[in-house]
Amino acid sequence: MESSLDLAGCMQRIAAAGLSAGTSGNASLRTPEGMRITPSGVAPAMLDARSDVAMRLDGTVLAGRLEPSSEWRMHAAIYAAHPDAAAIVHCHSRHATALACCGRGIPAFHYMVAVAGGADIRCAPYALFGSEELAQHAVSALEGRRACLLGNHGQIATGHSLESALSLAIEVEELAAQYLLALSAGGPRHLDDEQMREVMERFAGYGQPQERGA
Ligand SMILES: [Zn+2]
Repeated sequence: MESSLDLAGCMQRIAAAGLSAGTSGNASLRTPEGMRITPSGVAPAMLDARSDVAMRLDGTVLAGRLEPSSEWRMHAAIYAAHPDAAAIVHCHSRHATALACCGRGIPAFHYMVAVAGGADIRCAPYALFGSEELAQHAVSALEGRRACLLGNHGQIATGHSLESALSLAIEVEELAAQYLLALSAGGPRHLDDEQMREVMERFAGYGQPQERGA
């Protein structure tokens, strides 16, 4: 079921879910002209529809009274490289960021890892926030995936709607927390390629796996 979640509402949900503190994190929606993105440096509670910034993917601002998120290049590069992505959520959620600070992605330790589109969730190498280098690292780590971790930074999730991108970001954070716990309990048993292939086949039979909470 499609929702009418807007960018401000999405950021407020991220904050309420404890996925980001302060003004970190941002979200965007693809538009015919390019994208609408949250502004730079505004606390979620202060956002509303008037704070959105409309831009082309080349960085040209079309409408908005505030500066766009400093991560607009990363959002733009992902829309350019991933035609299926209609919405993007980026946050510094605690457990996903802790793993990313160790340069670790999330391997096939639980079948729900496949919710991001493959047998693992990669961690992109570190690059300066807001840089084109970070944008390209994110695009590479998202190849064949709907989410990835960003080294020494956080996580990013895509979807066919803001609701689905937000839902995936929440799932990635939960998987990161479970993986960290499993590591601290002696290390998880990993599922093999055949087991993950079965999961992905089953997910494919149910449409968008990120909408399911199986
Ligand atoms: Zn960030």
